[in-house]
Amino acid sequence: MPSIYLDNNATTPLDPRVLEAMQESYRQHPGNPASQHQLGNQARRQLENARASIATMLGADIQSAAGESLVFTSGATEANNLAVKGLVGAQPGKIVISTIEHPSLLDPANHLKQAGWDLQRVSVNSSGMLDLDHAASCITPDTQLVSIMLGNHETGALQPLKEISSLCRSAGVLLHTDATQAVGKIPVDFRDLGVDALTFSAHKFHGPASIGGLLLKHGTVLQPLFHGGLQQLAMRPGTESVALAVGMQVALHLCQQVPPTQEESLLGMRNLFEKLLHEKLPWISITSHRSPRLPHVSNIAFPGLNRQALMMALDLAGLACSTGSACASGSTDPSPVLQAMGLSDELVEGALRFSFGRHNLPAECQLAADIVEANVAHLKGTNPLEKTASQPPQEAHKQL
Ligand code: PMP
Repeated sequence: MPSIYLDNNATTPLDPRVLEAMQESYRQHPGNPASQHQLGNQARRQLENARASIATMLGADIQSAAGESLVFTSGATEANNLAVKGLVGAQPGKIVISTIEHPSLLDPANHLKQAGWDLQRVSVNSSGMLDLDHAASCITPDTQLVSIMLGNHETGALQPLKEISSLCRSAGVLLHTDATQAVGKIPVDFRDLGVDALTFSAHKFHGPASIGGLLLKHGTVLQPLFHGGLQQLAMRPGTESVALAVGMQVALHLCQQVPPTQEESLLGMRNLFEKLLHEKLPWISITSHRSPRLPHVSNIAFPGLNRQALMMALDLAGLACSTGSACASGSTDPSPVLQAMGLSDELVEGALRFSFGRHNLPAECQLAADIVEANVAHLKGTNPLEKTASQPPQEAHKQL
């Protein structure tokens, strides 16, 4: 049985070169980077070297006096919580997010709402793109924080961050972005995006789980979530893991290597998979295909089929994909992202996410498309909604 992993948005396999670098770091640096002795100093040097290098690769400079700062966290969930709760003042005010944010951003924002904050959510269109007119009406000078993700975790739709940034600049409002699915997949330049804070996480780009970061523009005031130490300027106290930081540095560096051929690129494989599948099953609907998308994400609706049943059938056939965000796994609720896009119940009920990674091979695209075709045919044979499935898809989602 084949084993094809197309759930790289949930997590990516650790690159063996990253593991090697981490093992070397564990061997070489037994000291606590906050200790005063030589072993501590050596560990601190490697930690700070990793911090500076990661920031540079993300278009920031933490070494100059007016440069950015980079806070290491346990991942993007913590970084998003830190941003939402730590970038706003003590007094309730207004925060603006989109209707398609990841739960790790939405839930802390809802937490503030319960504490009396005015939470406004900017809508998206049926391609999953932010409605800029709605954003402009929400972002007013009394807003304390705007947080809009860079690339969506379910559809891959890229959001117009530069336009949001100029709205925020004109209103004098702080802007945070959750770039978790974008970092390592597309070039991400902190300064060029014009944001004040940016979240990312190493396990999404073949690095280790349990480390991520929050990049901050110079002078940005951040209140800590935790207390009890002076590490990371007390913004995120607790002993830092040198090896995890080195792992994240090496992983990000490896993402910058260009694949040998276009076919082997994330975009090449994703496009091939969609093309093959569309040839076999012309009635499927490729979500967000009209908007700029992250190169590795393919969200496909199989109208008339049940996403849970199809996902499980594919899994048994050796193809791993997902019904949505891994952070909502266990939940059989329909995707809040696709619902926010206003897609019909039929499309939402039948949508699966296929996400590619550097370790996939072009040959797997053909195999994966064959497996999907066979299992769709099987389910359609047993599915009472078969008739609906063979009807033409909605106009807005008909073509590639
Ligand atoms: N934001 C986005 C957009 C994500 O896709 C994820 C992971 N599913 C997270 C945040 C949370 O990341 P982590 O697992 O590092 O906490």
